[in-house]
Amino acid sequence: MIDFSLTDNQKKLQFKVREFAINEILPVSRKYDKSGDFPLEVLQKAFDQGLMNSIFPKEIGGPGLGILDTCLIVEETAAADPGITTSLFDNCLGAEPVLIGGTEEQIERFLKPLTEELKFIAFATSEPGMGSDVAGLTATARLEGDEIVLNGRKMWVTKGGVASLPSTFCRLEGTNRHKGITGIVVPMDAEGVRVGKPIPKMGHKASNTVMIKFDEARVPVENILGEPGKGFPIAMQTFAHTRPTIGAFACGMARASMEYAIAYAKRRKAFETEIANFQAIQFMIAEMKINVDAARLLTWRAAWEADQGRDNTISASIAKAYATDHGMKIASDALQIFGGYGYTTNYLIEKLFRDAKLYQIYEGTSQIQRMVIGRHMLSKYNPVFEKTFT
Ligand SMILES: Cc1cc2nc3c(=O)[nH]c(=O)nc-3n(C[C@H](O)[C@H](O)[C@H](O)COP(=O)(O)OP(=O)(O)OC[C@H]3O[C@@H](n4cnc5c(N)ncnc54)[C@H](O)[C@@H]3O)c2cc1C
Repeated sequence: MIDFSLTDNQKKLQFKVREFAINEILPVSRKYDKSGDFPLEVLQKAFDQGLMNSIFPKEIGGPGLGILDTCLIVEETAAADPGITTSLFDNCLGAEPVLIGGTEEQIERFLKPLTEELKFIAFATSEPGMGSDVAGLTATARLEGDEIVLNGRKMWVTKGGVASLPSTFCRLEGTNRHKGITGIVVPMDAEGVRVGKPIPKMGHKASNTVMIKFDEARVPVENILGEPGKGFPIAMQTFAHTRPTIGAFACGMARASMEYAIAYAKRRKAFETEIANFQAIQFMIAEMKINVDAARLLTWRAAWEADQGRDNTISASIAKAYATDHGMKIASDALQIFGGYGYTTNYLIEKLFRDAKLYQIYEGTSQIQRMVIGRHMLSKYNPVFEKTFT
């Protein structure tokens, strides 16, 4: 049986976050986009209302919510501001490797302090010379007594400038590709860890993005997640859990773009009538609605599979690719409906258009999602009609 309805608790959560997004995020969206400041005040309010750290287990004082619940939260907040939402959600990304590969003791040691006060954990896989090809990462790890010594650089670390910890992945010296990759939680105040300046970006300005440098950085071996050299599956499972959420980010941004376009089309006149009366405009809006709904359904399926403990790698890639590619198209079409005014900073649509682009890039580009799906289709997919092919 299939049931698309939300539980009463999920409906309450959705309503609560919607109110939070309208009252606490939307009014400051432009301010943070202009200043590029980290939205600490907004995150403090979100933390106080239990809207951060959604997946942190109840046993350590977290909200204990699922990935579908997290999708409900971020769709609402991303509709108001994608950049603030990246900052809000990123603790879940940073925590996933710990929840997936860590022991109970590590979960308690690393994540419990983040439920007691507003603190941040980042996620650091990408490097200056590598993003898509995670198995090609080059930062090294060397076991030395009761320490693991790290060298190399991690690029694009979201919240790296404000986090007290990043979950990072380095390779044991002398290893190649998937073998040897090791997940490690690094205290930012460890000897040999340095943080670069915020990287200027086109959108998502309310998220802090930096490079982190490890120069003989010394971390206790108790901070290794799982076994040394066996971290690659932890990184991949992390993405399977977080990609549905990026789908939900895109749904929120696309839904807001669509709603702004509808409001503008009803008001703006051309050829002596509201532009909403032109079929060309109506069809663009209809396409937006079709694709927001389709993206949300794919996103919820991928999140639901993860919450059921199933392998959702493929559904997560499908959801991320569909929602983010259509999200970009919806933001672009919505801006088109605004005509010249869409290209100014008078309306939020130009900001959403800039913000939309990142969704197709981080946590695996649209091409990488297709690579994952294509490989699956040509190896593990079980065809119904194969036997009839001659
Ligand atoms: C604002 C921002 C925040 C980010 N936050 C984080 C973070 O917190 N932590 C983190 O670890 N990373 C983060 N990233 C990094 C992000 O995940 C990478 O940028 C992304 O995975 C792409 O990697 P790349 O930039 O190295 O591109 P590349 O891997 O160099 O790819 C360049 C182009 O080639 C394409 N390509 C690559 N391989 C293939 C292939 N096999 N087939 C077809 N096409 C291919 C890509 O799709 C892309 O179009 C962030 C990035 C940005 C911009």
